[in-house]
Amino acid sequence: MNDPLGQVMAQMNKDHFHRDLAGLLAIESVRDDSRQGPGQPFGPGPAQALAYMLQLADRDGFETANIDGYAGRIAWGEGEDILGILVHVDVVPATGDWASPPFEASIRDGFLYARGAADDKGPAMAAYYALLGLKEAGFKPKKRIHLIIGTDEESDWGCMARYFATEPMPSLGFSPDADFPLINGEKGMVTLNLTTKRVTAGPLKSLQAGERTNMVPDRAEAILTGDQAANLADPFPAWCQDQGLQGQVDQIAGDLRLTLHGKSAHGAEPAAGRNAASYLAAFLQAYLGDEVDPAISLISDCLHRQPDGAGLDLAFSDEVMGPLTVNAGIVDIQPGESRVNINIRYPRGLTAEALVDRVQAKAARYGLDVTYDGPAKAVHYIPADDPLVTTLLDVYRQVSGDATAQPLSIGGGTYARMMPKAVAYGPLFPGEDGQLHQANEHIPLASLYKAIAIYQEAIRRLTEKAD
Ligand SMILES: [Zn+2]
Repeated sequence: MNDPLGQVMAQMNKDHFHRDLAGLLAIESVRDDSRQGPGQPFGPGPAQALAYMLQLADRDGFETANIDGYAGRIAWGEGEDILGILVHVDVVPATGDWASPPFEASIRDGFLYARGAADDKGPAMAAYYALLGLKEAGFKPKKRIHLIIGTDEESDWGCMARYFATEPMPSLGFSPDADFPLINGEKGMVTLNLTTKRVTAGPLKSLQAGERTNMVPDRAEAILTGDQAANLADPFPAWCQDQGLQGQVDQIAGDLRLTLHGKSAHGAEPAAGRNAASYLAAFLQAYLGDEVDPAISLISDCLHRQPDGAGLDLAFSDEVMGPLTVNAGIVDIQPGESRVNINIRYPRGLTAEALVDRVQAKAARYGLDVTYDGPAKAVHYIPADDPLVTTLLDVYRQVSGDATAQPLSIGGGTYARMMPKAVAYGPLFPGEDGQLHQANEHIPLASLYKAIAIYQEAIRRLTEKAD
């Protein structure tokens, strides 16, 4: 294909694409557990969006299957192997100030605006039109192609748990739900609670920071009591200034309250933030000395300004996937109990068990216990020389014109990790933002068309031979 974009535009009826996508975007497919029912395990919206996609495919002569409203499949082609393309039609709620109604496709200055335009209805429809274009052009795939449609990606991925409980696992695949060129490495993840029972003897009553394990807390608050507390009021403002941070001191019902403002960042990139909890712990450790709680000492000694995990003996970096990272996302020290929640993202070459052993050894010195907060996620890595990766990268380079594009590794997790051999592939091009999960979510129409061309050529190349 010398001019894939030209060819796809010729084959594709743009008006039909816009009409079909607008219909999908109009469905408010936000999970609503209060309206669960038979065939709609996540409420009526996600189930409706799924039914809509399957109706299009029925109309266009594909085989379809609806897996109890959890997920669906649009199938085409014959062969032993299955190419899986994994998309989702649920969306996050449309909060915030929108310039146009969020559940209405609006085109302004070449951009398509709507909740789901980029995540993931636009890409889902692009993948579908790639299939349709190939079918109408008379292409005969030598593998089965399963366009798998999830309805619960934005919450717990329960759709995929149900789908793969009974449906066949593709032998290779991609998911148009992240970034181009492609993501072939996703770090493993372990979230841990470090806890201890607490007898309050010293001046610290409580310390609280953060609500989510995957965010760097940007605010921490400590309540102190007794004579010693008064001694902290004076040095705190100067200490904050030294650190380049904002802090406040107030009196509340005879107690002293210290509030510290840090800088938020995603938990996958803790070095980009300034953890308010760890800074406040460092201050308390410096000024209270032996009087400080063991949990505060642990934060100050082992977590403060050590996003690489060095303080927990976890520092490790892989040349392809980058460094291990540690984020202390939630700190909750109360009269009866202390809890420090840490989110560790690790590259290939490590295992969750080995990491947890090290954290346990370290925490034990401070008298803290370690427990898993949810199951660990393994590293997802498809080697750069795997034919899946080389083919998809080659197609991307050819269609985008960027001959130097390289595969990406990220700290987060994408839908691709649902399949053992799959990568994330588009829809966002380098430099595009899309305002995913925010007001005025959008995608350039030209990028959607380009994505169709890329998906079409990728599907053709991956299924033109049986093996
Ligand atoms: Zn998504």
